[in-house]
Amino acid sequence: MSIFSSNSKKTGKTCTVIVGCGRLGANIADSLSEAGKDVVIIDSNSDSFRKLSPMFGGMKITGDATEMLVFNDLDMKNVSSVIAVTNHDNTNIMVAQIAREMFHIDKVIARLYDPARECVYRELGIDTICPVILSTNEVDNLLFGGTTA
Ligand code: AMP
Repeated sequence: MSIFSSNSKKTGKTCTVIVGCGRLGANIADSLSEAGKDVVIIDSNSDSFRKLSPMFGGMKITGDATEMLVFNDLDMKNVSSVIAVTNHDNTNIMVAQIAREMFHIDKVIARLYDPARECVYRELGIDTICPVILSTNEVDNLLFGGTTA
């Protein structure tokens, strides 16, 4: 059962674009695809697509997401969400800002390795996921039942 099975389609836009087909990007892409969602995954290294399940039914685009050209192959009017999960914070932020400001994408999520930057991007309306903070909270939870975070 996919974790994305209850995703809303209220806006009529149906496509999720994932930038970065690493372990996290591939896992999210596979889950969305398994739930029957419209998914596009972009990576600068075509070998990265080997992390996707053989059942992945979305579109794969090889390209550098810091170059605007990569978005030319997409109908951005149909994109409801962009998830930036490359291994570079600066790239993820740049992609998130392009998605938000140039394409007016409703839901934009960026992964940040550096927790110090998180509050800045929240102010820009960009949701962030920070593995350091998530892991710290989970360790606190396992050790103390989440009472110290
Ligand atoms: P991981 O560190 O396992 O989450 O993988 C990160 C992925 O991001 C790798 O597959 C990289 O090839 C990809 N990546 C890094 N920089 C870019 C970029 N500028 N455009 C597209 N994909 C990228």
